[in-house]
Amino acid sequence: MTTVDDHLERILAAVTPTRARRAALHEAHGCVLAADVRATVALPSFDNAAMDGYAVRAADVAGATEQEPVTLPVAADIPAGPGTPAPLPAGTAARIMTGAPLPRGADTVVQLEWTDGGGESVAVRDVPRRGQHIRRAGEDVTPGALVLAAGTIIGSAQIGLLAAVNVARPPVHPRPRIAVLSTGTELVEVGSPLRDGQIVDSNSHGIAAAARESGAQVQRLTGVPDEPDAFAKSFYGILSQVDAVVTTGGVSVGAYDVVKEVLTGAGSIRFDQVAMRPGRPQGFGLVEGVPVFTLPGNPVSALVSFDLFVRPALQRMRGLPATGLPRVEVTLAEPLRSPAGKRGFVRVTLDGLGADGRPAPDTLARPAGGQGSHQLTSLAAAQALVVIPEDVTEAPAGSRVAALLLGDVPGSILSGVGWADAHADATGPPAGLPTR
Ligand code: AMP
Ligand code: MG
Repeated sequence: MTTVDDHLERILAAVTPTRARRAALHEAHGCVLAADVRATVALPSFDNAAMDGYAVRAADVAGATEQEPVTLPVAADIPAGPGTPAPLPAGTAARIMTGAPLPRGADTVVQLEWTDGGGESVAVRDVPRRGQHIRRAGEDVTPGALVLAAGTIIGSAQIGLLAAVNVARPPVHPRPRIAVLSTGTELVEVGSPLRDGQIVDSNSHGIAAAARESGAQVQRLTGVPDEPDAFAKSFYGILSQVDAVVTTGGVSVGAYDVVKEVLTGAGSIRFDQVAMRPGRPQGFGLVEGVPVFTLPGNPVSALVSFDLFVRPALQRMRGLPATGLPRVEVTLAEPLRSPAGKRGFVRVTLDGLGADGRPAPDTLARPAGGQGSHQLTSLAAAQALVVIPEDVTEAPAGSRVAALLLGDVPGSILSGVGWADAHADATGPPAGLPTR
């Protein structure tokens, strides 16, 4: 048997960030910056008005009051857009709009509300501070400044900033393209009528969703029966088009374990019994340079294995630290049992979370329901997986234990892109993923 840690270490030693390339901003969204971005421009790029009002010399409106306003002729009207305005003659004002360039000579903007809003001349009713309501060139970003550092996740604010400094195609690690391939002659696609002995293929949907949460673009391949030729055709058909393959099922010790049968000896693939529950039978290796994860078939085993092994690998592929699920400490509300010699991952609900929604010192963990590896309801109800070490068979009520938080993964992102389904029987190239 292999330990959970050794299996993960072997995986992380083999996976690398996706090759950096420049991507349009909408593609870059959710990706990780592959290099520092420095400004080639100033932001703002010119001195401009922060308010609608009048550009003036402060000295020209000194002494203005509500009772005795200072009236200046309006020399110009300056909207945003049409270029550099004429210099402001001394003793005059220019009507100016927010964002419009400040005319040379002006040192202050008087907000519209302090004036009578006049068009020919303007009465100013209060004394502005010199320099008021002016946004100076370079106040936000100076040319050459570091705008965003390599390793930054590109969210909406980062997209806005990149656009503002005129970077149309930042260098990113593209989202990994992942093929999710479920095997089993008994499987039918969700929504189809079931005949005797058939079950719905839930793994490929759950795993595809988990991969998407992890920032991957997903190609789901379904309907792969337990026949070596059929599996080999699907697997090798997709291999060259993706950055990783995740299979479920067909890796235990029974007959018809097609994944094991076809991939034994392929690349660096190794099938191991990992000392954990759920999720003992695991496989991983590079085939033609592509990381291949062969997860067990039981639905909870498959998803928990994904969380433990594939999520951190995807983080690394995206250029992030491979932290996996956030680790916290909780208190057991009731005793938990775990098999000797295996690391137990117990699905629990959490009671008494802190105001920030995170576990607090008095947060209590309770089993979320049946812990069988086929029992998905408890995984769906769970907020965390309590981790019971290999040498512990019973953790008493009240003990402080480690737990992995579900559904709150650093760098996780939901987006509509990159979800493509294909049936194994379909002919022609799978839709939805860009070609390499
Ligand atoms: P296997 O490892 O292929 O023998 O599968 C173990 C168990 O998981 C069996 O009960 C399978 O029917 C079930 N199973 C395998 N693949 C899936 C899947 N894609 N969706 C739901 N259940 C599955
Ligand atoms: Mg099977």
